[in-house]
Amino acid sequence: MHHFAYKGGVLHAEDVSLDALASDVGTPFYCYSTATLERHYRVFSEAFSGADALVCYSIKANSNIAVLRTLGQLGSGMDVVSEGELRRALTAGVPAERIVFSGVGKTREEMAFALSEGIYAFNVESEPELTALSEVAAGLGATARVAIRVNPDIDPKTHRKISTGKAEDKFGVPYERARDLYREAAGLQGIAPCGIHMHIGSQITDLKPFNDAFALLRELAGQLKDDGVSLEFINFGGGLGVPYRGTNDVPPHPDEYANVVLDAASDLGCRLMFEPGRMIAANAGILVSRVLYVKEGTDKSFTIVDAAMNDLIRPTLYEAYHDIWPVDEALRAAAQRKTDVVGPVCETGDYLAPDRDLPPFAPGDLMAIMTAGAYGAVQSSTYNTRLLVPEVLVKGSDYAVVRPRPDYDDLIGREKIPDWL
Ligand SMILES: *Cc1c(COP(=O)(O)O)cnc(C)c1O
Repeated sequence: MHHFAYKGGVLHAEDVSLDALASDVGTPFYCYSTATLERHYRVFSEAFSGADALVCYSIKANSNIAVLRTLGQLGSGMDVVSEGELRRALTAGVPAERIVFSGVGKTREEMAFALSEGIYAFNVESEPELTALSEVAAGLGATARVAIRVNPDIDPKTHRKISTGKAEDKFGVPYERARDLYREAAGLQGIAPCGIHMHIGSQITDLKPFNDAFALLRELAGQLKDDGVSLEFINFGGGLGVPYRGTNDVPPHPDEYANVVLDAASDLGCRLMFEPGRMIAANAGILVSRVLYVKEGTDKSFTIVDAAMNDLIRPTLYEAYHDIWPVDEALRAAAQRKTDVVGPVCETGDYLAPDRDLPPFAPGDLMAIMTAGAYGAVQSSTYNTRLLVPEVLVKGSDYAVVRPRPDYDDLIGREKIPDWL
């Protein structure tokens, strides 16, 4: 459920008209709904209300500091994958003791910074990383609280580029090696093994892979207790899918997901941790774009809009489907025809919706590319020397530009021509 709906014939974000917003901010732009972000966070966290649970929103999905502040104020922790993301979380006012640090390639500088800030735990992804973290922590006289990320070799049945829990994926430590690595960790200076971590992939719409993976987590937790590791928490990662195709895909409700988790772990006496990203942010954001031209090709038409793959790369990177809604509700009733919605970037892969049945958009019309709040703006670039797309946060009838569109000086002015040229 989200808070983008037609009111008086015009698509609104909560109580803000997207037509008016487009006139004020210019297109293209991302628009996020506070009520939707809050709702998703609450639905997820309330699914675990009877347990000692900490939800650490995975900020790589949408890391705008206004979004982080919104979630942090509800009590959310954060899952970060770089020093930059850690700095964002801290800037947004999220306490360090609610922050965990994931990722296969943390540098020693990043480790030292995270230790100095006193984060809750590191999700360690390999033996050499564990050794490096031990050296850095010991050198600072600090203790790194550690969960080892276990790779269960389970197929999450999602797009290959967002599967992370198969043996061929670069993430985590093979399940069979994990127990030994905990033994080793217990003997390392500056390391306090206190949790287990797993994250098997993203946009998962079937509970079976979770069920299989969590059974392994349970087994490992039992073994570690036998080995005398004092296990404080189990981190189940993120990965719960969202409906990209209107009512056609129905991902499991957080309550159903919670049942799978609680079946596996409610009696282990551990804190339950989660890192949802997409599930919180995807439906809470849209990309608004204006039609520039409609071009009739030999076999089909092209609807050329002012947003492009540099603003939203998911369609070309993951073959992702995003619903498209006209901002003017009257267009919805018109007969549909097939068109390719494409951007101005000089790449054949620059499309937002290939081969899509849509009403007849005309130049000047606005469209909303739905479910773009996660892995949208964060993956935007300035390819083709296009200005980075701005972000707007709506709350009720208020809105604020939370990342302004840069100007060309910002974009080109940092480059230098050497003296010898
Ligand atoms: C990306 C990521 C997540 C979030 O995944 P979603 O599918 O967006 O919920 C959680 N944990 C880790 C370690 C990740 O890399």
